[in-house]
Amino acid sequence: MAITMRHSPFHNQRPTDCVIDLIILHAISLPAGDFNTTHVEALFSGHLEPTAHPSFAELAGVTVSAHFVVDRQGNIDQYVACEARAWHAGASIWQGRENCNDYSIGIEMIGDEQHPFSRAQYRETARLCRCLMHHYPRITSQRIVGHQDVAPGRKWDPGVQWSWAHFHRSLAHIRHANLPIAITASDAVSASDDSTPPCAHRSSASPDCSSASPAATDRRS
Ligand SMILES: [Zn+2]
Repeated sequence: MAITMRHSPFHNQRPTDCVIDLIILHAISLPAGDFNTTHVEALFSGHLEPTAHPSFAELAGVTVSAHFVVDRQGNIDQYVACEARAWHAGASIWQGRENCNDYSIGIEMIGDEQHPFSRAQYRETARLCRCLMHHYPRITSQRIVGHQDVAPGRKWDPGVQWSWAHFHRSLAHIRHANLPIAITASDAVSASDDSTPPCAHRSSASPDCSSASPAATDRRS
């Protein structure tokens, strides 16, 4: 399974010595209910045309991204290298730690609150999570959560259509997945040069990140 490397300018460095130990699952469709990835790609790339749809006006100037997007067919795009801090969670807290962007990986799944997610999305999202769990051993299956869990009341996603039971069954059936994800920015560059690196790097062990947060914050998500 290939992963398409794309670029989002909406990322920055994680705090020094930050250990990645959480995955946050999201759902998105643009415009709402449209499962084509074209506008999501434009949004994360900073090229969304605000006049392309009436609902896009409120997205003008919004700077958001995610590390990965899983579409309805199970295709995976990567926008931000894992070691970098993507802007997906916004104001958030998990088990007393704020600023979840600092220490999490964000995965957007194309979907909404009206339609069940596809079997391919359960399978590929689970494979992607298993690969990330290999790289970042502190991510246990209990540390894969929804945006709604880290921003309750503010965010709905991945929402009522996402079956956590189905997802955890899928995850349990996958012992190892070796996806060509980009851990570092240089991985992403070499991957887009068409030499996709295997899932082979390992993050160095380091202490937990503090709650200190870089100045840049996303406005919306
Ligand atoms: Zn979200």
